[in-house]
Amino acid sequence: MKIIRFSYNNKCSYGILDGRTVQAVEGRPYPDLLPLKQLYSLNDVKVLAPCEPSKIIAMGLNYHSHAKEMGAGIPNSPLTFLKPPTAVIGHQANIVYPSASARVDYEGEMAVVIKKIAWRVPEDQAMDYVFGYTCFNDITARDLQARDNQWTRAKGFDTFAAIGPWIETDVDLENLTLETYLNGELRQCGNTSDLIYSVPNIINFISNVMTLMPGDIIATGTPAGIGPMHPGDVVEVKIQHIGTLKNYVIANGC
Ligand code: MG
Repeated sequence: MKIIRFSYNNKCSYGILDGRTVQAVEGRPYPDLLPLKQLYSLNDVKVLAPCEPSKIIAMGLNYHSHAKEMGAGIPNSPLTFLKPPTAVIGHQANIVYPSASARVDYEGEMAVVIKKIAWRVPEDQAMDYVFGYTCFNDITARDLQARDNQWTRAKGFDTFAAIGPWIETDVDLENLTLETYLNGELRQCGNTSDLIYSVPNIINFISNVMTLMPGDIIATGTPAGIGPMHPGDVVEVKIQHIGTLKNYVIANGC
């Protein structure tokens, strides 16, 4: 099932997407979906980021191929950092290239959306806390990441967390192809089978640090092939059986 968030006549709602038809749901879609009678055409609504996370927890160096291209070893434990919820944008929204940076990269990732409050969750129960999966672009000011001792600035600019286009609730994570395209050219091609730490590993690890809330996002890391974007570029993150997230890069001040 595909869950979207949308606005219609200036009112934001969640809905179930079936083909080109959107069926609104009551309130938020977790932990339980309560479908309403209102139906909309996808053509008539504005698609928003599919969730409203209280926080975004992202994984560094979680694909073997990316750790190799960065010349880094495999982390002894999951390497995590935060992106602020103010960085969130949705499908077809603009990524604003900050004037403080001269090198802004795409990082195509698969993201987990949390279904219910999660605190100290054992690995064997972790999947009970997953609502679904979506595409994520962990946009990064690579020069600032190298210059600063920590990553808050490099990862935290407004528009640096692209999420969407929807949440897919029924998908087998074991063997999904993940691709990133820049202006239609393939730049990243990975597979979730290359993940170093699995989704249950990560949920267990993070929920022993902080409470995860419904709608929170865990971005699971990027495969090899990261690279720069420039104003005017179009970037797409495509994940098999989930969907394609498309965004446009614009200069600051546009
Ligand atoms: Mg990343």
